[in-house]
Formats: sequence, C-alpha cells, structure tokens
Amino acid sequence: MTLSSARHWVFDMDGTLTIAVHDFLAIKRALEIPLEDDILHHLAALPAEEAASKRAWLLEHERELALAAEPAPGALELLHELRDRGCQLGVLTRNAHELALITLQAVGMGDCFASEDILGRDEAPPKPDPAGLLYLANKWQVEPQTLVMVGDFHFDLACAKAAGARSVLVNLPENLWPELTDLHARDCRELRQMLS
Ligand SMILES: [Mg+2]
Repeated sequence: MTLSSARHWVFDMDGTLTIAVHDFLAIKRALEIPLEDDILHHLAALPAEEAASKRAWLLEHERELALAAEPAPGALELLHELRDRGCQLGVLTRNAHELALITLQAVGMGDCFASEDILGRDEAPPKPDPAGLLYLANKWQVEPQTLVMVGDFHFDLACAKAAGARSVLVNLPENLWPELTDLHARDCRELRQMLS
C-alpha cells in the first residue's frame, strides 16, 4: 500500500502538529526527576501523594504551554488535505487529553479530530507502548498494518513498529532512527508533497 492510499492516520501532537515548546529538562529539574528517567514512568512509581502533587504541577505547567502553542510548518494544511481525502485522523500523545484539546484548538486544529480519537496519557499507556494505536485500529475496524503513525521522536516510531503500523518521522532535518523509520519527511509540508 502506498502512502497516498493510506486512510487512517495517527499523529503525535507536541513537536509534530505543534512546534515543540516542552522543556523536558526544566520539568525534570522542577520535579526533582533524574535527567535519565522518563517523566511519566518516574511519576507512576512515586508514593501516591507525591505523585499527585507533581502531576498537578505538570498539568498546570502544560496548560500554559498549551495556550501558547503554535502549529508546525505545513501541519494544518496536511490535516486538511487528509480530511478532504476522507481519511480518519487520530492523535496519540503523552500529554493529557484535556490539554491536547486546548492545544489543538489554539493552533486551529480543533475541528480536525473527533475528541474520542484523541488519546492522552490517561486514555492509553504512554508510547512506545502500542496499545493506543491498537485501540484506534480496533475502534476504526482496520488492521493496524494500515495505520500511519506520524511523530517527531523515537517513542512514536517504536510505537508504530510495535503495533505493526507504518512510521513516519517529521520535523527533524536528519533521520536519527533509520531502523525505526519507514519514511522521513523534513516537515509536514514535505510529507504532504509526498502524498501527491
Ligand atoms: Mg512529539
């Protein structure tokens, strides 16, 4: 199957549809998380009370980022093109669902996705776990192999691989993870050109 015939697309949000604004090092410093640790996994392993207060801080911090979000180059045009082709579009993000809605609204993509097709960290285990992708495949009643997963980080690509979906890397000038990547486009503008 060619990319242009793909009808089911799932996008990472931060850094893929939007310009990356998360400063993960600053978040880790503020929450006293070792730099080599994964933020969500680290929080999940903390005592309940400490985890709750740190999650609340994270949510508040991310809410400010959500309101200031900007669309990544060509992302809005790509989504509109896919929507016009009758594609089903989903989002799989390690951000929170509520903040994903605010972010997508802020960058003009609020009408591109059905709310129930936007999976955040409370709806699905965090990438690279493929469960979120498999959930969408099942919901849309298609084989995971027909899905295209678009992202800007190796978690997105590894998630696609684990689900059997196709992986597209965007928004990096060089492909840092060729073994995980089926297709590399410099940005969503270039990806859109590859569809025609
Ligand atoms: Mg990302």
